[in-house]
Amino acid sequence: MGKGHPNLTLDTDDITCPKCDSTRKHRYDTLRTDSGMIRQQYKCQDYYG
Ligand SMILES: [Zn+2]
Repeated sequence: MGKGHPNLTLDTDDITCPKCDSTRKHRYDTLRTDSGMIRQQYKCQDYYG
């Protein structure tokens, strides 16, 4: 399937929020850092209202 470069497949559904300990009601954003790393950032809807 042509995997040219190592890709970090982060299962966002498996991320648990440290604030509310829930994997639901969260919006996940994918950010790319300056170093080229893909970073998942989640926003806790409970925390941010
Ligand atoms: Zn949360």
